[in-house]
Amino acid sequence: MPLIYCSECGKQISDSATACPNCGKPSEKVVRDKAGKQVAGWIIVGLGIGFDFFVYSQPPVEAGHPNEQKLAALRLFGYVVGLVIIAVGCWVANSSKEHS
Ligand SMILES: [Zn+2]
Repeated sequence: MPLIYCSECGKQISDSATACPNCGKPSEKVVRDKAGKQVAGWIIVGLGIGFDFFVYSQPPVEAGHPNEQKLAALRLFGYVVGLVIIAVGCWVANSSKEHS
């Protein structure tokens, strides 16, 4: 396993180490992974919000429409799906903070 130099204290550390054993600075890879996870999480949150807006922008169901109840249920389901996507995005974005 190759050795790299810690950018904080300059000591040689394994490139597979998640943090420098000398000063505790997280490795570049871990920092990159965290940033990537956070970006991915926020993209998912954005998709969820976009999805909810899409559902919201649908024209309201006319009263007396033969599928009124079905469409109302579908719209509610759409909101829930959007909220679940947002929740998953928040979870992904925050999951990177657990091991710090
Ligand atoms: Zn160090």
